[in-house]
Amino acid sequence: MPFSDLQRGLEERTALGLLRQRHTLHSPQSTHIKVDGKRYLSFSSNDYLGLANHPKLISALQQGAAQCGVGAGAAHLVNGHFEPHHQLELQLAAFVGKPAALLFSTGYMANIGVVQALVGKDDTVFADKLNHASLNDAMLLSRAKVKRYRHSDMAQLEDLLAKAGSGRKLIITDAVFSMDGDTAYLPELLLLCEQYDAWLLVDDAHGFGVLGEQGRGILSHFGIASSRIIHMATLGKAAGVSGAFVAAERVIIDTLINHARSYIYTTAAPPALSVALLQSLELIEQCDDRRVHLYQLINKLRAGLAGLPWDLMHSDTAIQPLLIGDNQQVLGLSEKLRDRGIWVAAIRPPTVPQGTARLRITLSAAHTESDVEQLLGVLHEFAH
Ligand code: PMP
Repeated sequence: MPFSDLQRGLEERTALGLLRQRHTLHSPQSTHIKVDGKRYLSFSSNDYLGLANHPKLISALQQGAAQCGVGAGAAHLVNGHFEPHHQLELQLAAFVGKPAALLFSTGYMANIGVVQALVGKDDTVFADKLNHASLNDAMLLSRAKVKRYRHSDMAQLEDLLAKAGSGRKLIITDAVFSMDGDTAYLPELLLLCEQYDAWLLVDDAHGFGVLGEQGRGILSHFGIASSRIIHMATLGKAAGVSGAFVAAERVIIDTLINHARSYIYTTAAPPALSVALLQSLELIEQCDDRRVHLYQLINKLRAGLAGLPWDLMHSDTAIQPLLIGDNQQVLGLSEKLRDRGIWVAAIRPPTVPQGTARLRITLSAAHTESDVEQLLGVLHEFAH
């Protein structure tokens, strides 16, 4: 048994500063967390609205379990599709302004399912080079031809579209790029779709709940709507729970129900999660004050980070990465922050390109101004 090979692989990763390890939380997800027994001020979660530990969501989940039990017990297409799943799909579709929606257990599974169901070996997928890993894996699994374009390079994308053969064309993109925090040029992407008769799959994991009117997401943010757009978003980030949905034309949703393998061949998520998500959707709609506060914190953080020796990336979202470059250096900084009671994740290749390791600072509406001041104070101290 080649265990020694595996051991060597892990040792190589360690030497390169690339070993991945987990830490155990002993508190709810929040701006203040307890990890391995110690308390930290955290800038690492995607809980952008501070809903993950909201009392109304906790009691909705409890009520959901009392009403529907815990496990769904079967796949959606067998007999695991519950009334709360159905209601949530109707409400999500209405919220983002699409005719229909379909729930998936995770965002990863949603992306895999959509791409595999909509394109095959005679088709072409066009993908931004900085897309999330789940979109990258989805296009490879689909067996479609793959054309990757430089990050947000619309001219290169147009060139690739113009040269594509017959067959379906599907452009796939993060809405807010998960490790960079910048936003895709959706109006331009939609124009290209119209010009070259393509579909557009938008992964709104980091926009849903935060961007657009009442948090309706990236399409509302840009004020665009089109039957060509397939709007996917996750429900474990701003929505504070778990899961994902895809919203699109009815015929697309029916195609997913019939062909998306990661929808068909898996047990439905516990219906109590949908009960919690129905409550979350109500909170998201009412969270304008939280979104305003979040944007004030983003501005404060950016202004405060400006004088530091590390590059602040071009982002106006809650994801504010500080580019460090070297893997060991970013690990060192993250550890020094931890010693001072602050938790910021070090993101390294292959999650980001070589030489672009970064501290991925994420803000939540649950942070206070003084939380941000504390982070800025320590970073300025380290820089001098
Ligand atoms: N897409 C993007 C852009 C993401 O950031 C993530 C989560 N990190 C996912 C998809 C996967 O979502 P989930 O965690 O629900 O599987």
